[in-house]
Amino acid sequence: MNPLRHGRRLAIALFCAATMAGCSPSPGTIARPTPPMSQPATTVTVPPRVVTLGHSIEARPIVLHLFGDTAVGPANTVLIFGGIHGNEPTSAGVCRELVAYLTANPDAWQGRCVAILPEANPDGLNRRIRTNKNLIDLNRNFPAANWKKTRRSSFFGGDAPATEPETKVLISLIEQNKPARIVSVHSMADPCNNYDGPGEALAERMAKHNGYPVKASIGYPTPGSFGSWAGGDKQIPVITLELPSRATTEASWKGNREALLAAVRG
Ligand SMILES: [Zn+2]
Repeated sequence: MNPLRHGRRLAIALFCAATMAGCSPSPGTIARPTPPMSQPATTVTVPPRVVTLGHSIEARPIVLHLFGDTAVGPANTVLIFGGIHGNEPTSAGVCRELVAYLTANPDAWQGRCVAILPEANPDGLNRRIRTNKNLIDLNRNFPAANWKKTRRSSFFGGDAPATEPETKVLISLIEQNKPARIVSVHSMADPCNNYDGPGEALAERMAKHNGYPVKASIGYPTPGSFGSWAGGDKQIPVITLELPSRATTEASWKGNREALLAAVRG
């Protein structure tokens, strides 16, 4: 068996187990010492963990950061990912900032399962190009009903849907774990909270915090996009959060921290 394939299956299975452990009382529960009477009692059930879900074409790991708690149902599982376009590095940077914030502030994810994947296209990020190593736009490579083969450009979605290892990792993650809502972080000249599927209400809540407009369409067709597949076809609320492309990671994090925490809360 190909060791990478085996490793990917095992890693995704581990994420499933971790999610399930986070969604029901577990013998692994680690109770904090009883706090002073003046403080509310809190229980941390499953410590934050890092799972390698698979590898890119150039064998870079695709890494999931998982924050979970007991007594939550599947409705409280959220996935936030960035870096699917390698020329949008602030999208990965803001996800890494969120990982650091949740690590330092466990109260922010108490009662929830929060999965964060900062670098969905690690080869593209390394090269600062939109596509993956095969020059395929991963955000046009999902098996959505509207997928179609297009001419070769930086938006080329491949000769068929779901051909790329980076796409397959995200498909397996979502099909096996069924998050209740998803935020896909990007960046472009005009920032917005774009939604697919039943995502309008969440987009409106995020807009109250980041001040970006809510848009049902990004303004041009996106056949085979993640939002078309997970939002339009699978009817999971999907927000494509477009950060301002001219802003730094620091400024984008500052302007979107509360919007992302609103998505964590649901
Ligand atoms: Zn993008």
